[in-house]
Amino acid sequence: MPQLAEVVPLTPVDGSFTYVLPLKCEFVAIPGARVVVPFGRRNVMGVVAERSEGEPDGLKTIEEVLDGEPTFTKELLDLTKWIADYYICSWGEVLKAALPKGLIWSPRAQNGTPVRIKTARHLRLVEGVDVQATLAELKGRKQKALVEALAEAGTHIPQTEALRVSGASSATVKGLIERGWVEALDVEVERTSDAMSAAIDTPKEVALHASQSDALAAISEAIEAESQTTFLLHGVTGSGKTEVYIRALKRTLAKGKTAIVLVPEIALTPQTVRRFRAHFGDRVTVLHSRMSDGARFDAWRAIRDGRYPIVIGPRSAVLAPLENLGLIVVDEEHETSYKQFDPAPRYHARDVAVMRAYRNGAVCVLGSATPSLESVANARAGKYVLLRMPQRVPVKGREAAPLPSVRVVNLLREKEIRRLKGALSEELRDAIRHRLERREQIILLQNRRGYAPVLTCENCGHTPECRDCAVSLTVHKPKRQLRCHYCGRAERKPNVCPVCDSSELVFLGAGTQRVEEELAAIFPAARVLRMDFDTTTRKGAHRAILDAFGDGEADILLGTQMVAKGLDFPRVTLVGVVDADTGMLMPDFRATERTFQLLAQVAGRAGRHDLPGEVILQTRNPDHPAIRFALAHDFDGFVEHELAERQAFGYPPFGRMIGIEFKGADEGSVRRLAEAWTSELANDAQGVAILGPTPAFVSRVKRQWRYHTLLKAPRSVPASALAGFVRSTIERTGPPKKGRRINVDVDPVGLF
Ligand code: ADP
Ligand code: ZN
Ligand code: ZN
Repeated sequence: MPQLAEVVPLTPVDGSFTYVLPLKCEFVAIPGARVVVPFGRRNVMGVVAERSEGEPDGLKTIEEVLDGEPTFTKELLDLTKWIADYYICSWGEVLKAALPKGLIWSPRAQNGTPVRIKTARHLRLVEGVDVQATLAELKGRKQKALVEALAEAGTHIPQTEALRVSGASSATVKGLIERGWVEALDVEVERTSDAMSAAIDTPKEVALHASQSDALAAISEAIEAESQTTFLLHGVTGSGKTEVYIRALKRTLAKGKTAIVLVPEIALTPQTVRRFRAHFGDRVTVLHSRMSDGARFDAWRAIRDGRYPIVIGPRSAVLAPLENLGLIVVDEEHETSYKQFDPAPRYHARDVAVMRAYRNGAVCVLGSATPSLESVANARAGKYVLLRMPQRVPVKGREAAPLPSVRVVNLLREKEIRRLKGALSEELRDAIRHRLERREQIILLQNRRGYAPVLTCENCGHTPECRDCAVSLTVHKPKRQLRCHYCGRAERKPNVCPVCDSSELVFLGAGTQRVEEELAAIFPAARVLRMDFDTTTRKGAHRAILDAFGDGEADILLGTQMVAKGLDFPRVTLVGVVDADTGMLMPDFRATERTFQLLAQVAGRAGRHDLPGEVILQTRNPDHPAIRFALAHDFDGFVEHELAERQAFGYPPFGRMIGIEFKGADEGSVRRLAEAWTSELANDAQGVAILGPTPAFVSRVKRQWRYHTLLKAPRSVPASALAGFVRSTIERTGPPKKGRRINVDVDPVGLF
């Protein structure tokens, strides 16, 4: 019988296709191996899903097998298939997302792949050479030193090192090679990411406090029993969650198993990565998409070879090619950066982590100070085991550091009575002044970058908008520019209104640059560091800012939500939220949850050690639930309130949702596509609410008009049934005409 193989092409075309195996490939085309196959009119890379036998009639033949060992384990093949099914995309798209660029074959690249293995020239003594006899025969001092160095090493060493220790030159080496005493060889060098290049600190050894011990005991028991449990570790900021992860990882390694630690964004968590390295040294590596292609290629292959039992990384690290998984930790599990949006697969790394752990009999730990309502609901339903750490780590010899006191400043009233000037109220200014006098540090959150979000003409009301997106342009001071935060377009800020020629152009609102300017005017001696998208584009800029602040080189760290995440600075005693309302009024059912989480997280940066902390929230909506519950550190109250709202409207976690986005350059044609597609869907989907199509909240981005349709169904409708409606509609309607696109987003996290 001729040998056949089912191959998944790495394209958006769904499914696998049968190919004939040429004789020479019969032994290498194993499941999980990469192959090159003719597909349509070109050659593409694919992955062998399984082997079969059958009639070769009408089938194409595999061109080439790229691997001797399978690139994908059976486990990852199955997991990626599950992701494709659940998130309604092609299996090939998921396989592609799981691979570093260096392993993706392309017909244009030399040797098929765009990344090469890096090697360094090493030297060693030729086997069987008698060292004493050779040394006796050699005259040159440097020649002798080189031979001695190689003899001492007993193995091959990099030529650069051999030359350095012996003082020899490459001419010396050449001579020794010609005489048959020394030989050169190329040895692979592993390129590393920045996070891995810093020195390894000594680990801080601590005695666990009571709730840490309880949490660890429960997790350890599950690790020992390989019991497939998912834990929700709800611990306030500074309660010692990371310490629990570290101990659980030690348990996992002791059992000979491997682990993944997901963090929201690697650049924002240099402190966390450092702590893991302090404990695990060379047994841990990072994997993320911002590494150079070379470093990612090397890290991926090293993980696949079993060299690192622990992998830390953002979202995509959930697909790390580890075998024998024992534990997956998802830190800050509520973070929206765990959801991929563009391109497909639009997966949620937390949910994939739970599934991957489950399928491997592994333990999953979801940690957060402000767990997502989805996870809280799963814990209440008994699907996850809830572990709580309600108090901060006790300071040596004393009680737990109390959570900071929180005050609200009502900006509307401020305006009435004290004539608010600028973005900082008098209360916040006073609080800043006190900290500066005491040489304590301050974190200020203003979740908007640029100088002012809007420029407007007082005379005619004109507001400049982006030519390509339906949003107003943000004023950026340094280059006197107007910039679009959706597409990046920049233009010169006009001096007079382009419509009426009036010079009465005013700035509305404040971004981080404007707050920075205000701080400089009020506190000219204060040293301010600004951390936002614009100050962190350079590689390593994040770390430089955080290190400088940690070293006391600045008094105030001012920034967007970046300053709310995972930072632990003992001298920070004041956190000020300049405008707690940004984002609160977004047309998204998660807006309240987001705002509450951001406020609770940033508040957690204050008073973490022996100095007491204080938080000041400036708002125009002091009665908003996000503010009310953040003010009282009342997570449970917030959950009760928010779950009731969600239940009333059938939103997640009580309902399932799938978002469909229609895009294209011509508005009429996108709208017609959205309408036709949606009514086709409506024919099929019983028991499902279909909302839309409606223009998206930002109705045009990068010249593309956007329409949305939302499917909403009760939890009783299985995910597979809901996905089935969408899939069958896609099949019936076929792919959209050129220039128009349909994006399917299962469990969407941002609805605009
Ligand atoms: P979280 O991850 O919950 O924010 P961390 O694990 O980062 O908390 O702990 C906060 C700080 O307290 C860190 O500096 C950590 O080293 C320290 N720490 C954690 N657990 C203990 C403990 N049991 N005893 C003393 N210090 C601890
Ligand atoms: Zn005007
Ligand atoms: Zn734009």
